[in-house]
Amino acid sequence: MACPMCEKETVATYRPFCSKRCADLDLAKWFNGTYAVASNDPDDEVPPQADDTKPH
Ligand SMILES: [Zn+2]
Repeated sequence: MACPMCEKETVATYRPFCSKRCADLDLAKWFNGTYAVASNDPDDEVPPQADDTKPH
């Protein structure tokens, strides 16, 4: 099995990664990806349900 980040040999301690660095990188990637998708999509096309912005 190879590290999904750099495709080096996997180390059991950090499976499925080869090192803590790659494990952290993957975590950061998912974190950033999640935030990027969550914050970019509503910006692109605002759904007509933004009731919070209207004055009551
Ligand atoms: Zn790696």
